Amino acid sequence: MFRRLLPMLTLVCASIAPAQKLAITFDDLPSHGKLPPGVTRVDVAKSILDTLKREHMPPTFGFVNGFRGENEPASMPVLQLWHDAGQPLANHTWAHKDINDLSAEEFLAAVDQNEATLKSFDRNRERMWLRYPYLHEGDTVEKRRAVRAGLFARGYRIAEVTMDFEDYLWNDPYARCFAKHDEAALQYLHDSYLSTAEQYIRVDREMSHRLFQRDVPYVLLMHIGAFDAKMLPELIALYRRNGFRFISMPDALKDPAYKADPDAGDAGGGTLTELLEQAKQLKPLPNHKPYKKLAELCR
Ligand SMILES: [Zn+2]
Repeated sequence: MFRRLLPMLTLVCASIAPAQKLAITFDDLPSHGKLPPGVTRVDVAKSILDTLKREHMPPTFGFVNGFRGENEPASMPVLQLWHDAGQPLANHTWAHKDINDLSAEEFLAAVDQNEATLKSFDRNRERMWLRYPYLHEGDTVEKRRAVRAGLFARGYRIAEVTMDFEDYLWNDPYARCFAKHDEAALQYLHDSYLSTAEQYIRVDREMSHRLFQRDVPYVLLMHIGAFDAKMLPELIALYRRNGFRFISMPDALKDPAYKADPDAGDAGGGTLTELLEQAKQLKPLPNHKPYKKLAELCR
């Protein structure tokens, strides 16, 4: 009886498409965070690109800061590898400076300066996307509006984020704990990375439901770090277990929810849903990240 029932159940489950959609994106190409001994930027990029291919992921955007390659020429092949793997490159400004410290004109100049690097990989850039460093979109509403107007006049669209668990926090402790061969600490990093990602699935979905009464197609912010590369297969499996299927970032951002504009200055920045909630003065949902423990681990 059960033997007959099980294949039928599997068939029924497989025919129901998962409800939530997610686009993964990577920031800070070609280099982010500290590296464990013996690991190069090229190793990190190859590992991520291999996982994306093996998992049949849709085109995955990498957001570039040209200055990183200028400061560390050995990391420059990362951009060529990303491009050759058929993954799109996009703009994260030249030097990753905080918009809070710049005028609108200076910020737009940092966007323009980065274009030369991007054009050297893709001469026929049709659609241009900008990811704000630190997810800071302007500390005053005047600056925010001036930058947006300048970006739209140049043909840019904003690569908004709606899912974020601050993945970057784990990369530096990973490099330290790996160097010390601290197995217990490495296990903690593994477990806390996945449990925090899972916690933020709940938090970010709840924000989406509070604002839009539904799941928007989410855009996940990640970084091109050594621990992110190591964890990517398990992270993809975690999202799949939680009912997500993967789409490209431009497909996600077609959703009308992404037309929402908080239209308010905010020095602290955040995801689109966080900024919209702050503009509406909604009480933040309870959430926790192990900032202190990660900062202190393996010192
Ligand atoms: Zn960044």
